[in-house]
Amino acid sequence: MEMSEIKQIVKAEIHSHLELCLRPATIKELAPQFGIELPNEQTFRDRFIIDEPMKDLGSVLNKFLDTQKLLASEEILERITYEACEDAYKISNTKILELRYAPTFVQQGHENLNFEKIHAAIVKGMKKAEADFDMAVGLICIIQRILPVKEAEAVTDFAIDHKETFVGLDLADNEVGFDSKPFAPFFLRAKKAGLGITVHSGEADVPKAPRYVQDAIEYLGADRIGHGVQIYRDEKMMSYVKEKQIPLELCPTSNWLTSAISTKEAHPFKQLYDFGIMTTINTDDGGIFDVNLNQEYELLHRLHGLDRSDLEHCADYAAKVSFISPEKKQKVWPRKL
Ligand SMILES: [Zn+2]
Repeated sequence: MEMSEIKQIVKAEIHSHLELCLRPATIKELAPQFGIELPNEQTFRDRFIIDEPMKDLGSVLNKFLDTQKLLASEEILERITYEACEDAYKISNTKILELRYAPTFVQQGHENLNFEKIHAAIVKGMKKAEADFDMAVGLICIIQRILPVKEAEAVTDFAIDHKETFVGLDLADNEVGFDSKPFAPFFLRAKKAGLGITVHSGEADVPKAPRYVQDAIEYLGADRIGHGVQIYRDEKMMSYVKEKQIPLELCPTSNWLTSAISTKEAHPFKQLYDFGIMTTINTDDGGIFDVNLNQEYELLHRLHGLDRSDLEHCADYAAKVSFISPEKKQKVWPRKL
């Protein structure tokens, strides 16, 4: 299958971090305003792109922080949201798109912004994109698990107060050393309020990873799992996830770049798919990882043998389990959901 045919497949993406999917041209335009000079393509890539598996966390962290510096005004937030939708639609033929962001991450270092202003700007960008393109977009609010529990509670309240414009709540950041269970009361409250629940877990290559997935489902009421890739090592956990019909938001390129898996070829996507688990295809941080959804589909086709109908099957899974309302989704989706 050629890339042109892969592009034609109508896609749904349910795991994409808004803060880390900035368009390169926009980064190049904005960065100098914040004291980051990018005289050439190499400087840009060195400061903002991760294109080989991470070794030291420090250099990666700096790339995140440089990107964070740019998220400095309502105007910029509206613009990057609109552009993320536009690029997903025009480049990858994505018709259902969930974007997630952490209000605490966006606000950090920006005294002029608060949660309300941040969210209003992002919603504005999203609505403008929905008016311009034949797509359905939803926003997920992220709790950073590295935060004190009190701040996590404030984020939960914020998400519930804005449940008309958020479709879900997520727990993100490094799970190793940051147990998810203390966050359970917040997630159960959000679930009760009608928000979809997704939890980053089972991502890192550590022995306990499959157990983290079970915790997310049992204690936090996860409807979906962000990554969950490591359950391939534990057939019992694969059966558990399959029986509970919990979809996995898999991000092959991201898993390779964060060293969650050793090579692109070693990704267990097909093993999980063949086992009957609802596997969805996503970019995670498309901007910083320099990858779009077409490329993720192409990788699975070329290296793992998924054919067009397999890929459409995974796109249908993503469309089906997206937290966006069924009516809104069906309006843009070519097949019956
Ligand atoms: Zn993620």
